[in-house]
Amino acid sequence: MPSHSPNVPSETAAPIRVSGWDWQIRFPTVCPRCLQAAHTPLTVAKTFLRFTNVDGTSSSESGSNRQIPRYPYAASFRIPFCQACASVHAAETQHLAFSSYFKFAWVLLTYAGPGLVALACVQLFGKGALGLLLRGEWLGLALLSGVILFFLSIGLWLVRAGWIASRHCLVLPQTSVTKAVDFTDDLSTGFEPVWREFVFRNARYAHLFAEANRHRIWQTDGPQAQRAAWLGKLLRLVLLGMVLLVAGGCLWAWLRFR
Ligand SMILES: [Zn+2]
Repeated sequence: MPSHSPNVPSETAAPIRVSGWDWQIRFPTVCPRCLQAAHTPLTVAKTFLRFTNVDGTSSSESGSNRQIPRYPYAASFRIPFCQACASVHAAETQHLAFSSYFKFAWVLLTYAGPGLVALACVQLFGKGALGLLLRGEWLGLALLSGVILFFLSIGLWLVRAGWIASRHCLVLPQTSVTKAVDFTDDLSTGFEPVWREFVFRNARYAHLFAEANRHRIWQTDGPQAQRAAWLGKLLRLVLLGMVLLVAGGCLWAWLRFR
């Protein structure tokens, strides 16, 4: 019979596959470690090594020679625990070394620094655009708007990339408390929505979690997965069609004008 005592964990429950963005995942308001009422959210964070595929997509799968440099990617969830377990967690939590903060700031600045410069340019051009608007110079305004949009996209992308590239530096080792919860990286491929596997030490908690996310349970052969596979095939056909069209056009032009 499974025990709910935190010191004697019940056998690990089967993985639960859930799709959705991190903020859409629901965690029951009972403690994953001991099933008491949970009102203290703790951050459970993990770092994964991601591989960049030759086709530009990312994955956590290893072993294929089509995959090139890997980079660390941190994912985290705020999960409610009971006060007693939160205290144990606090006692076990290690402090980050100064070098980790330094590395975090360095990696963040490498990306976000140029991003902030781009956003400063947006502010500068924004003033110019306001002047053009007041003078009714519509052509200039349209052109400058394009430039502003370009710098804004670059700036926001770099700030986001900086956060993604650096946050793993702040991930602390898990404690005996947060180890009650485990999850994989995003396992989606192609057009599938983000989905992960969650594993809980406590089978009763796993059941409650599955119940709280019953509308998001991911089935690898379900209708959503089939639609994603179908969209992938369609995109490949469209790309093939475009390549054939361009190749055909070039051949025609060469035969016609040579
Ligand atoms: Zn607890």
